[in-house]
Amino acid sequence: MPGPTFDQLFGLLTAASLAAADVARLREWIARIAHPGACIALIEQAAAGRPCPHCGCPRKHRCGQASGLQRFRCLRCRRSHNALTGTPLARLRKKACWLSYLQCVLESRTVRDAARVVGVDRTTSFRWRHRFVPGAMRDRPRSLTAIVEADETYRLESQKGSRTLTRRPRKRGGVAARRGINQEHDCLLVARDRGGQTLDFHTGRGQVTAAQLDHCLRPVLPADVLLVSDGALAYRRFAARSGIAHEWVNVQAGERRRGAIHVQNVNGWHSRFKSWLVRFRGVASRYLINYSGWQRMLDARRLTTPRHLLQAAVQLS
Ligand SMILES: [Zn+2]
Repeated sequence: MPGPTFDQLFGLLTAASLAAADVARLREWIARIAHPGACIALIEQAAAGRPCPHCGCPRKHRCGQASGLQRFRCLRCRRSHNALTGTPLARLRKKACWLSYLQCVLESRTVRDAARVVGVDRTTSFRWRHRFVPGAMRDRPRSLTAIVEADETYRLESQKGSRTLTRRPRKRGGVAARRGINQEHDCLLVARDRGGQTLDFHTGRGQVTAAQLDHCLRPVLPADVLLVSDGALAYRRFAARSGIAHEWVNVQAGERRRGAIHVQNVNGWHSRFKSWLVRFRGVASRYLINYSGWQRMLDARRLTTPRHLLQAAVQLS
């Protein structure tokens, strides 16, 4: 007996009363069978006319195809490249699944969940996360403007996923051996202007220093900005050295704001980041900047579709 036709199945489906969970399953399934050529076309389009990623020469000729992508040979350095050479997505396989994976990135799905939805194994899902997220993170403001709030948030360093620990293991839900911020803490510096543009930096372990502020902030702060921070000495030193106008609120003494002088926007970002991060049940220090970049991308709401994320990832930095 022949199986039901598509029209018959579709008729049954439209007659059925679907629960929200059923609709979600259908959406996931349809996302997976998205046109396999769509991803390739988007990649080629985003990289069209790009010069050689090795030497910058615009002159090249076509030389066959590899992994579905056009291959080019540079007329100056003679090396070959394709649209993904020099991007975090170079040499990743299964392009037909990328757009549905990127949808999982937009939905902040866990590694396991994304693996199930996209139909790849968990190690692939993990590897992809740390390629696609850095790709999307390339969409970053070049500089901040007007009033810029800067503040750090600290997280206990984590060697999650490492084969060899460089210290004694902590108990689950670990706490630092000593009180206060010290070399056991990763410092995430966030600067945010009042237009909502945000930049994040993993400065390393321990309290942020004036030299680190100089390294991270000076290139992104034009001369006419007003920097606002808490009373930490490092900010005052950095501002004095660089000649940037600076105001600070004495948060430790309970001061919250003086008119427009406050760090509430950047602190709001920190708290959104921390609550968003809970779902991942601890992140390794070496990936901290990927997670903050991921949150920055979601929070900025500039890249809102898998297509946007793919286009950002294909850009050369
Ligand atoms: Zn070249």
